[in-house]
Amino acid sequence: MERSKVVVFLHDFLREKKGDYDVITHDRHIHTPFCPHGSSDPLEAYIENAIDKGVTSITFTEHAPLPNGFTDPVPTKDSALSPDQLSLYIDTCYAAKKTYAPSIEINIGLEIDYIDGFSEQTAMLLNTWGHQLDDSILSVHFLQVPDGSYHCIDYSREAFQSLISACGSIKKVYELYYKTVQASIEANLGQFTPCRIGHISLARKFQKLFPRDFDDTPLIMKTLETVRDNNKSLDINIAGLSKEHCRETYPPLRWIEKAKEMNIPLVYGSDAHTANYVGTSRDEVARFF
Ligand SMILES: [Zn+2]
Ligand SMILES: [Zn+2]
Repeated sequence: MERSKVVVFLHDFLREKKGDYDVITHDRHIHTPFCPHGSSDPLEAYIENAIDKGVTSITFTEHAPLPNGFTDPVPTKDSALSPDQLSLYIDTCYAAKKTYAPSIEINIGLEIDYIDGFSEQTAMLLNTWGHQLDDSILSVHFLQVPDGSYHCIDYSREAFQSLISACGSIKKVYELYYKTVQASIEANLGQFTPCRIGHISLARKFQKLFPRDFDDTPLIMKTLETVRDNNKSLDINIAGLSKEHCRETYPPLRWIEKAKEMNIPLVYGSDAHTANYVGTSRDEVARFF
């Protein structure tokens, strides 16, 4: 008895000590100068920022070209990489991967959009390019509303407002969003279907402007169960912390804790669209890793 008590104590002590440090040394959600709505910071600046911050492994996850036949619903039409840039993006990442191999592990990836009604086209894209990718994320940014049209959930407050009008209420927007995320988790997009689900609470990006008059706990809980049941991992995305109308991680901390309890693999992602954002706020979520 005495002996096992000491072991428990030592274990807790070590964990506590570990908690003093930033233990996350990866960042698996990073955009690049190829992102049409991002910054023009050079790829090298992203990599060097990661190295400076003690990040030893990164994944570039540029927004994959939108599926054939899908029209980008945002007014600036700049949600994703244009199809003719994809090959250059991969080649550029591959060259960086080789150049920087002695200092940092670089994975080549994409953030793939899951869009209701476009799974076949998305699978085609993955079947064409998937063998060149090390890693990828499946995210929902676009929702198909009852009249059949598509809306972007995170583009602007005006776009969110028009989504509310199209759905009928904030609650209906959340229900549609989580239903679509759950469909993304269960989607079969072929042999290169991404294993990781991106920012699963993006519906909360404008929560301070559009407060909920309902509890979204059951929606998030069901989403986590779907992630677990389909053996997916979770993008622990800190980008919402710096969004003035959100101010929390995707998903919020209590749900990260829940996901950990459910043994869902957690993967930190900064969702950096500028070089200096790589690896930020790791200490906010380090205790869950
Ligand atoms: Zn982006
Ligand atoms: Zn995203």
